[in-house]
Amino acid sequence: MSDTVLVVGAGPTGLSAAAGVASIGKKVILVEKEAVLGGAPILSGYAKLVPSGEWAKDAIGRMVKRVEDNANVTIHKSTKVVKVEGEAGNFTVTLSNGQTANVASIILGTGFTHFDSINKPEWGFGTHEDVLTTTQMEQMVSSGKIACPSNGRVPERVAILLCVGSRDRQIGREWCSKICCTVSTNLAMEIKEISPTTEVFIYYMDIRTFGLYEDKFYWKSQEEFKTKFVKARIAEVTKSADGRLLVKGEDTLVKRPIVIPMDIVVHAIGMDPSEENPELSKIFGIGLEKHGFVDKGEQYTSTFSSTRRGIYVGGAALGPEDIDTSISHGLAMAMRAVGDMNALVQKAA
Ligand SMILES: Cc1cc2nc3c(=O)[nH]c(=O)nc-3n(C[C@H](O)[C@H](O)[C@H](O)COP(=O)(O)OP(=O)(O)OC[C@H]3O[C@@H](n4cnc5c(N)ncnc54)[C@H](O)[C@@H]3O)c2cc1C
Ligand code: SF4
Repeated sequence: MSDTVLVVGAGPTGLSAAAGVASIGKKVILVEKEAVLGGAPILSGYAKLVPSGEWAKDAIGRMVKRVEDNANVTIHKSTKVVKVEGEAGNFTVTLSNGQTANVASIILGTGFTHFDSINKPEWGFGTHEDVLTTTQMEQMVSSGKIACPSNGRVPERVAILLCVGSRDRQIGREWCSKICCTVSTNLAMEIKEISPTTEVFIYYMDIRTFGLYEDKFYWKSQEEFKTKFVKARIAEVTKSADGRLLVKGEDTLVKRPIVIPMDIVVHAIGMDPSEENPELSKIFGIGLEKHGFVDKGEQYTSTFSSTRRGIYVGGAALGPEDIDTSISHGLAMAMRAVGDMNALVQKAA
C-alpha cells in the first residue's frame, strides 16, 4: 500500500494539510494549478489579514516556506489532476504534466472563487472606474496610497457596500460569506490610517463580525476610526454631473430614500463555490451540495470526508471559511488521512 497522500490546492487549507502529513513522516504530493503557492490571499494580493494584522505575503509566505523546505513534500506547480482510479488506500492519479502516482488518500483544498461584481451591474462595477472590489482596495492599501483611480485625487468619502454576491437570493447566492464584515471593518481602519481626511461609510444589512471580532473590528473601527455605519438597502450606484459617485437606496432605520455622493465605492465581494467544482466532481467522483460547494460525506464521526471514501475535503471548498478555520481543517484532514492509512495497513497485515 502507498504511504503517500495527494494534496490538491496550495492555499491555507492545502498548505496546512501538506505540512501536517509531512510532520508525521509520511510523503506528500502537492498539486497546485497556479504557478505560485498560497491560494487566494497571495493570488489576489490581500493586504493585512484579519485577525492577526499581519501582511498576507508574510503570514502565508511562512506557510509556503514550511512546505517548500520539507523533504517529504513534492510540489507540482501549474499542474492539475486529470484522472483518478482505484480506491481508498490505493488510488492511481494522473497529473496534467503526464506523471502518475500511487497514493493512499487524497485531500482537497481547492478553495473558492471570488464573486464577480459584474453579476451585480446596478452597483456600478465595470461601469464606473472608481467602483472597486475589496481585493482591489486591499491592493491599493498595500501600495500605501489611497487615490481615486479615475483622476488620482484623495477621496473625501469612501463607501463600502457589504454582502455583494452574498445573502442575495435574486442572483442565487443565499449564503453569508462569513468573513467580509470583518474584512470590511478592518479595511475601513486601514484606509483611515493611510488617508486620515477620508471619511469611510459602511452600508450594511446586519453586521456579522462574529465571535471575538466584534470589539476588535466593529467597535474599534466605529469608536477609534469614526467609520460611519448606515443600515441601508442599496438600489444603484450612478455618476453625478461633477463626476462623483451617487449611492442611492433606502436608509432602512428611518425608512427614507438616501443619495450620498462618494468618491470611491468598494464592493465587499463574497465567496462563490470554486468555478472548478463541476470538473472536480467528475474527475474525483465526488458530490457537490446544492449551491455548488463540495459536499460532505458525514458530519460527525467521519468529519472532512467527501462523498467518496479516501477523499477528504476542507477549507473554503466546503463553503465560506476564514483562514484560521481553513488551517485547522487542513491539519484535521492530515490526521484523518494518516490515521485511515494506518488502519488499512493494520487490516492488511
Ligand atoms: C475579499 C476577501 C478577503 C479575505 N480576507 C481574509 C482575512 O483577512 N482573514 C481571513 O481569515 N480570511 C480572509 N478571507 C477568506 C480567505 O480567503 C479564505 O479563508 C482562504 O483563502 C481559504 O483557503 P483555502 O486554501 O481553502 O482556499 P484558497 O485560498 O481558495 O486556495 C485554494 C487553492 O487551490 C488551488 N486549486 C483550485 N482548484 C485546483 C485544482 N483543480 N487543481 C490544483 N489546484 C487547485 C487554487 O489555485 C488555490 O491556490 C478573505 C476572503 C475574501 C473574499
Ligand atoms: S459576513 Fe457580513 S458582508 Fe459578508 S455576507 Fe455575511 S453579513 Fe454580508
